[in-house]
Amino acid sequence: MTVRLARPIQRDSIVDGEGLRTVIWTQGCAHKCFGCHNPSTHSFKEGFLQDIEELKEQIKNSHNQDGITLSGGDPFFQLDASLEISSFSQSIGLNVWAYTGYTFEQLMLLSKKNDKILKLLQNIDVLVDGRFDLSKKSLDWKFRGSKNQRIIDVKKSLRQNKAVIITKYNKQNSYNILNKKEKNIYV
Ligand code: SF4
Repeated sequence: MTVRLARPIQRDSIVDGEGLRTVIWTQGCAHKCFGCHNPSTHSFKEGFLQDIEELKEQIKNSHNQDGITLSGGDPFFQLDASLEISSFSQSIGLNVWAYTGYTFEQLMLLSKKNDKILKLLQNIDVLVDGRFDLSKKSLDWKFRGSKNQRIIDVKKSLRQNKAVIITKYNKQNSYNILNKKEKNIYV
């Protein structure tokens, strides 16, 4: 099996979820949000095909990582590959975050016609959901580009059949707080 990637995996990310993360940059996204920061990831033909077994080795050899993050692009457009990568990552003790332009509610509806969507959700610990909305863009919100996007506890959400938001991330990220403090000191 292969996965279409936009770029090689990225280790040690601290901005794509909690802790030190290995990011899988999937290629392909049909949401086409206005103002998307990464339009080169939209095409389903560009990027490159990566053998999944090789990718698993790369993930296994990524030391001191807390988890993986499926990003893109949108990993929900490559369900088989995302399922395989997320299952493997969990089997070696890594937690799984995923970014998608779909909302949790849309995914639950779509899962009625395609059970792989539900299976993928079951493999994800934290979902950052929703399209990027330029009018709601904010650099102050942790781990997302616009304020409409939610950081969701997927296990709890599946149990309760509604999106359960992780509220501890609903605060300014420390990078910007630091910048503002520096401004106050030096300006
Ligand atoms: S879902 Fe993400 S990658 Fe896709 S268009 Fe929107 S911002 Fe860009």
